[in-house]
Amino acid sequence: QAIQLLSLNEVPGETRDGKRIFLRANIEVPEEVESVLAHGADGIGLFRTEFLFMHSRHLPTEEEQYAAYREVIEQMGDREVIIRTLDLGGEKVIPRLYDAHDEHNPILGWRAIRFCLANPHIFKIQLRAILRASIYGKVSIMFPLISSQEEVVMGLEILDQVKEELEREGIPFERDIPVGAMIEVPAAALTADILAQKVDFFSIGTNDLIQYTLATDRGNERVAYLYQPFHPAVLRLIQMTVDHAHQAGIPVGMCGEMAGDPLATFVLIGLGLDELSMSPASIPEVKRLVRSTSVAECEEFVGAILQLKSHRDVERLVREKMEELG
Ligand code: PEP
Ligand code: MG
Repeated sequence: QAIQLLSLNEVPGETRDGKRIFLRANIEVPEEVESVLAHGADGIGLFRTEFLFMHSRHLPTEEEQYAAYREVIEQMGDREVIIRTLDLGGEKVIPRLYDAHDEHNPILGWRAIRFCLANPHIFKIQLRAILRASIYGKVSIMFPLISSQEEVVMGLEILDQVKEELEREGIPFERDIPVGAMIEVPAAALTADILAQKVDFFSIGTNDLIQYTLATDRGNERVAYLYQPFHPAVLRLIQMTVDHAHQAGIPVGMCGEMAGDPLATFVLIGLGLDELSMSPASIPEVKRLVRSTSVAECEEFVGAILQLKSHRDVERLVREKMEELG
């Protein structure tokens, strides 16, 4: 079966009725690109950049960041690379920059885009490095943990300042680099129509979206039973995000763990996701499922799923469907 899945590398993630679902990879370090290419990814849907900050004693310099981004971008050739700006805080703590013990609720605290907007000197160095590397391939920028349009606007303003600086210095960069917002706070999903006015795409971060929607720490074993991707509240927020994105004419992907769960594939196609980004090894199986179904069939299925009252009922129906299709 492994051999069969690998030959899938040669064909696109396309449904039987012809919708292309981009199947991209999540990476945390440049060394993972080899595996991304080996599994036939359509690019990188989430390049987490925290590694640069966690594995060095000093703040990574512009040159260090530039080298790391350029290495990944060049290896990916003409395939999309979505670089997420620093998502520090919450469970990703870098003591030198930030002491989580200072806060009673670090998960609700000074993290991700909030930290970056409060520390523009750190944020600008990263944006400069990304922009300089952007000329070597097809790059997008994505802001994490967006909870309001103001945050997007402030992020874009800083990006514009950085572009002006590079311009003045005569350093080349991609002027029209697309910018997206991660949808991982319920407020962002609920106001996706407002956010869509300011960005080029969305990517739903279900790891955090589930945590914040269900008020359930994603890393706490005691409440792990409450952490349910198929909870009707989560499904409704995904549906809302996709519908608002499409009404505004922008694509919407998903880069949380749910995107790589084969149990979720038909549901996510039916909800209208345009891109699924996951760990590279999950791509072949998800691609097989995408190619085995049609959007029409998945939409009908989701119609039934959205009537259900609990994650258990959803899961039962999903498993039945999977068995039916083999
Ligand atoms: C997410 O929250 O779903 C996500 C992709 O980001 P991270 O897991 O890095 O918080
Ligand atoms: Mg997240």
